[in-house]
Amino acid sequence: MLHGGKVVAAFLNDRPRDRRRRQQVVKEQQRVLDLLDVVRMLQARIAKLTLAGPPWSDHPQTDLRVRHLMNSANGILARYKHLPAIQISQSSRSTSTPRLIASTRAEPIRKGADDTRLKSESNVVRSLLELLNENLLDRLFKCPCGRWFGALRRSGKFCSTQCRQKKYRSQPGYKESRRVYMRRYRQLHRKNVQ
Ligand SMILES: [Zn+2]
Repeated sequence: MLHGGKVVAAFLNDRPRDRRRRQQVVKEQQRVLDLLDVVRMLQARIAKLTLAGPPWSDHPQTDLRVRHLMNSANGILARYKHLPAIQISQSSRSTSTPRLIASTRAEPIRKGADDTRLKSESNVVRSLLELLNENLLDRLFKCPCGRWFGALRRSGKFCSTQCRQKKYRSQPGYKESRRVYMRRYRQLHRKNVQ
């Protein structure tokens, strides 16, 4: 899977044993999750506004909800030292669909004595924005078991084969179809033996 996806998923799955450290980590994770939520809402809104195709008489930039969400996203991003921000890619005259993109300053994050944790949160946010720019943000999933993971395909919804099978077994009709299958299997087997 994509490196950036791994970085973000590992950060979101982190559960330190130490109680005080865990409280801190949960706060950091919540900020990243809030950002992810807002960015996904923005993507959905922009996709809806641009569904009809060009010309963009209704440019997403002028939509009130988009503007509100952009403010929320950039409010969260203002915290990070590599000064990231998101914007909408195209002007209204352009023929390619406007989409959400992120900009970050290239320079490394300033080193401080006590900001190691924020630095890693900051790096996670950078990875998240890189996924956005590579159009891969929709490969970041939360499995029904609670684990985050980066899927190779957009259709991947489970973190492991175990989780996929668990879901399949819990579906209504599974037991009945399994009974029918086993009955047929035994009948076939008997025939082969004789
Ligand atoms: Zn799972």
